Amino acid sequence: MPRRPPASAPPEAATSAAPFVPPHPTLTTLREAAARCRGCHLWERATQTVFGEGGRGADLVFVGEQPGDREDLEGHPFVGPAGRLLESAIAEAGLDRRRVYLTNAVKHFKWEPRGKRRIHQKPDAAEVSACHPWLEAELAVIQPLAVVCLGATAAQALLGRGFKVTQHRGEVVPASFAPLVMGTVHPSSILRSTDDEARRTERARFVEDLRALKRALEGAVGGTRQGASAPPG
Ligand code: SF4
Repeated sequence: MPRRPPASAPPEAATSAAPFVPPHPTLTTLREAAARCRGCHLWERATQTVFGEGGRGADLVFVGEQPGDREDLEGHPFVGPAGRLLESAIAEAGLDRRRVYLTNAVKHFKWEPRGKRRIHQKPDAAEVSACHPWLEAELAVIQPLAVVCLGATAAQALLGRGFKVTQHRGEVVPASFAPLVMGTVHPSSILRSTDDEARRTERARFVEDLRALKRALEGAVGGTRQGASAPPG
C-alpha cells in the first residue's frame, strides 16, 4: 500500500535532494541514503525509493524518467513492460548488458488515482530538479563512457531544457558527465504506438539508435569495452 504522509508533514517540504546526498559516496551509500530522501513531496505517495541498478564496472548508463507502478512496488528500475522492451533492444543492438546501469531522473513514482489504478503523472521541472543531485551523484561515482537519455524528461534533466528529442534523437554528443551522450525515446512511448506496425517501426528505430551508440563506443578512445567481449564473471 502506498504510504500516506504523516499528518505533521510540513507543507513547505524541502525542494532538493542535496542535503540527503552523503559525502564521498559509493553506489551503496547513495542507495541507502536515497531510501530516506525527503527532498521533495514525491516520497509521500510512493511505496519506496527506486534507485539505479547495474553491473559492477558498468560504463553505459540508461536514464529514464521515473519508476512506474511495477517498479514502485518491486523497488527496482525498468522491471515493467518498458523495461522488458529496453532489455531486448539492448541485446539486439549488441550492447553488453553486464556493463549497463539503469536509473531514472526521478526516484519516486508520481501518480494519480483513476479508479483502482495508479496512473503515471509526468514529474514537473521542480521535481526533476529536486531529484537531480541523486542522478548527478550516480554519474559522478560511475563515470560512464556513455549515457543514454530515454525520453524528454531525462534528456532535459541532463542536457538542458533546449534539448528536443524530436530534433536531436540519436545524435551522440560529449558532455561534462560522460564523453558520449545520446538522447532517444523512452521505451514506454514505443509501447504506446497506435498499432503493431507502428510499434515495430519505432522499436527498430530505437534499436538503430542503440547500434549507433555502440559504434560510437567502439570508435571512442578507451571506449571499446562495450564493443568488446565482457570479461568472465
Ligand atoms: S523524488 Fe527524488 S528528491 Fe523527491 S523525495 Fe524522491 S528521491 Fe527525494
